Amino acid sequence: MTGDAEKRREELVAVFREARHCVKCDLSATRTQVVFGSGNADADLMFVGEAPGAEEDRQGLPFVGRSGNLLTRMLQEVGLEREDVFIANTLKCRPPENRDPTQVEIETCRPWLYEQIRLIQPRVVATLGNFSTKLLSGSPTGITKVHGVPQVKKLGVRTVYLLPLFHPAAALRSKAPAEALRADLATIPELLKREIPVFDEPLDI
Ligand code: URA
Repeated sequence: MTGDAEKRREELVAVFREARHCVKCDLSATRTQVVFGSGNADADLMFVGEAPGAEEDRQGLPFVGRSGNLLTRMLQEVGLEREDVFIANTLKCRPPENRDPTQVEIETCRPWLYEQIRLIQPRVVATLGNFSTKLLSGSPTGITKVHGVPQVKKLGVRTVYLLPLFHPAAALRSKAPAEALRADLATIPELLKREIPVFDEPLDI
């Protein structure tokens, strides 16, 4: 690991230590623990899901339930290992009964995610499902319309390919999203090698 990567990793650990005690929204009252994210702190590829579920809340790790098992399997099918990527969520705490995140929760939690992106410096950010896709694309267009097509986005100081993907939970429920997720994931190895175009228009992150 280069000195720069080591410094960013240490800073990420410091952000994690701070996030663990976050009480910025009401989810802090019902969570078991904060699910900050896991994986390679210097990853070229970062996944952003929706929010922790029951198993994630219990273990303190993202995507360790049924959706996570499917994601891990599908990553392996395209030659990617979980250890090589970083996995995070839009919300770091479980919403009660796995209800949808509210806009207030998303906005309140947003700085943690943006700190993660700033410090990890991924080339490709793959958003899983509608919530992370809408947040990071800055567009209300839903996943069904935008999945699989990379968007060049400036996230803070970093220009990345944003790749919207169906959420693995949708893939568990029906066949079409599962096939689309599998096909879209297969485009990632090539996307990781692609040069990132210059993008001058900053987003508000
Ligand atoms: N679904 C998510 O969006 N994130 C998780 O961590 C688990 C399930």
